[in-house]
Amino acid sequence: MSASTIRKAKKIVDDGNVEKIDEDLFQIKSSSDPNKSYFVTSDSCECLGFKNFYKFHHGKGLKANCSHLEALRIFQAKNKSL
Ligand SMILES: [Zn+2]
Repeated sequence: MSASTIRKAKKIVDDGNVEKIDEDLFQIKSSSDPNKSYFVTSDSCECLGFKNFYKFHHGKGLKANCSHLEALRIFQAKNKSL
């Protein structure tokens, strides 16, 4: 994963743009458009980057990733004690 994805993900978490909706459902605000947000679970995201990943890399056994999924991982690691 690229360093810029991780940087973006950290900023999303630092800005408090991750909100827990349910046990495995989170709403994450877009870093590029504050009026936009995506529903994210531990292994899927609604954003275009995530969808395009499977379009372009389908069948290669790769796991899609995007800044939102990464943000969710950082968020969960931070909130483990809760
Ligand atoms: Zn995403």
